[in-house]
Amino acid sequence: CGIVGYIGPKEKKEILLEGLQELEYRGYDSAGIAVIEGDKLSEYKAIGKLDNLREKTKKYESEGFGISIGHTRWATHGKPTELNAHPHLGAYSYVVHNGIIENYQELKNELQNEGVKFLSQTDTETIVHLFEKYYNSSNEAFSAFEKTIKRLEGAYATLLITKAAPDTIFFAKNGSPMLIGFDKEEIYFASSDTPVIGKAKEVYYLEDGEYGYVQDGKVHLFDKDGSTSFTTQALSADKI
Ligand code: GLU
Repeated sequence: CGIVGYIGPKEKKEILLEGLQELEYRGYDSAGIAVIEGDKLSEYKAIGKLDNLREKTKKYESEGFGISIGHTRWATHGKPTELNAHPHLGAYSYVVHNGIIENYQELKNELQNEGVKFLSQTDTETIVHLFEKYYNSSNEAFSAFEKTIKRLEGAYATLLITKAAPDTIFFAKNGSPMLIGFDKEEIYFASSDTPVIGKAKEVYYLEDGEYGYVQDGKVHLFDKDGSTSFTTQALSADKI
């Protein structure tokens, strides 16, 4: 239902929670955040109101540079439980997703036949396991993400972070809205512009089929054919 993401030096918990709060008006049944700082993975989830998540994260603060994602969920596949709340963890990566992966059952069967254990009933969890399957065989995070996206059918806006690339956020959009906000070396993601107002100076609304990654303050953007790439400077971003 709602997605936020942030890469940069600021304290991430507060940015994510503030962003999710701005998306509350869309409705949700649970919420969660995940942060990767070098080798350290942190994840918090709670059902019900964001205040429950605030309470759970009270003692947590991120330190220094890191990558982070957050989500408010409106369940489509699997009950509104803490286990089904996003972000979903694989072995070393997290994913958040809005929308529905239509072919998730086929993907799930394939992964389960290869020995992958699923923790949730969501369609979303297939994304993180597919990514790790491709990463485990190639050691190349972007191409693993690209291969993953090409397998997905349906509507999605998704962000993925992984310990395999702790300075990078991977993103893809098809049929569900997502934007990227910029402010110098900081980059924000959100499923609508309310979380980035007052934070990002410029914003780029992703088109269907676009995907890519952000790293070192730059966005690497690919169109649905995977052929064209831009970096931040080449994007025609709108001022907000
Ligand atoms: N289909 C996903 C789920 O049920 C995402 C739902 C959403 O857009 O919040 O977890």
